[in-house]
Amino acid sequence: MGTERQPRGPHDVFAWIDDSTRRRDRAGLTRRLQVRGARPQAIDFGGNDYLGLTRHPDVVRAVADAALTWGAGSTGSRLATGTTELHAELERELAEFAGAEAALVFSSGYLANLGAVTVLARPGSLIASDAFNHASLIDGYRLSGADVVDTEHGAPRALERVLAAREQHRAVAVTESVFSVDGDLVDLRAVLDVCRRHGAGLLVDDAHGFGVVGERGEGAVAAAGLAGRPDVVTTLTLSKSLGAQGGAVIGPRRVIEHVMNTARSFLFDTGLAPAAAAGALAALRVLRDEPDRPARTRAVAVALAERLAAAGLPATEAQAAVVSVRGPSAAQTAQWAQDCLADGLKVACFRPPSVPDRFSRIRLTSRADLTDAEIDRAIRVVLEHSPW
Ligand code: PMP
Repeated sequence: MGTERQPRGPHDVFAWIDDSTRRRDRAGLTRRLQVRGARPQAIDFGGNDYLGLTRHPDVVRAVADAALTWGAGSTGSRLATGTTELHAELERELAEFAGAEAALVFSSGYLANLGAVTVLARPGSLIASDAFNHASLIDGYRLSGADVVDTEHGAPRALERVLAAREQHRAVAVTESVFSVDGDLVDLRAVLDVCRRHGAGLLVDDAHGFGVVGERGEGAVAAAGLAGRPDVVTTLTLSKSLGAQGGAVIGPRRVIEHVMNTARSFLFDTGLAPAAAAGALAALRVLRDEPDRPARTRAVAVALAERLAAAGLPATEAQAAVVSVRGPSAAQTAQWAQDCLADGLKVACFRPPSVPDRFSRIRLTSRADLTDAEIDRAIRVVLEHSPW
């Protein structure tokens, strides 16, 4: 406290920020935007375009046509002027593909999570949350006013203990299907069994499962046989496997109607841009017509994970599209990612507070359209710059 920088004048009210900046710098946690140009300078193993659809000709054409037809924006909130025919079509086809009764499209996955959480849990209910859940879910808990208990990551038994011991009448368990940092897949059937034994609802964020997991890429929820259940609600993003932008809540019609009428992140937000809705819809149709894409994405991830582990690196197993490798420290991990980039390979870098534990990682994401030569090069570059 004594060393806090003193304001230089009456309006220097944000002087305190300099101290937190210095602390962040010292811990090796300062982030910088990396601007990319239209021509790729590096092979992309860092994005979430899992099916390689963001530049697919059908998708790009649909986006361009929609912009020409509808303009740049949706002009209002979904309940006012912000619902076009494209939104309605996308909702119908998303629900059908994932085997759910209904879907509701939001302008991002983050807002879909905020919306779903805040209307399924209220003050006096319990949220049993997997300890590694995404920030957008956690922010939803805070807004909901519900009681929250973190449960051990990926452990249905720990969830069972929490649900069994609760005093709250209503409860909802919340988990991701595939966890974004390490790419591990939860046993959703076991989680639902526990929920059912204890009268709890289940909310699954399938952001990293939809389009990748399941024989047709129908997502982790459908692949586990949970689609269409009256007690299961799923959230999605349209920005990963569908290569566009936006999010969705899918599930029983009564829940979707409830979300549409009460979720503030839906009611008070301008509807998703029509061009983004058109891009997601076109991508969904490519996914439906080309069921080999998800299989290729998974096979590339398995190859990455196995080869990195065989070379002695602490790589995670690939259960979907994500493979992570721990680094020795935050600073060394950031340097590792930077050295890879300088050598023509883009990988993601996760450091606190974006990791569920204290370990920093680089993360490689697979894509259906990566070539074997690109995979070989990625492995070579990651190993060459490894700090281990
Ligand atoms: N959930 C998870 C698990 C995610 O990884 C993300 C994106 N990082 C989101 C939700 C948010 O989705 P969006 O980027 O579409 O807002």
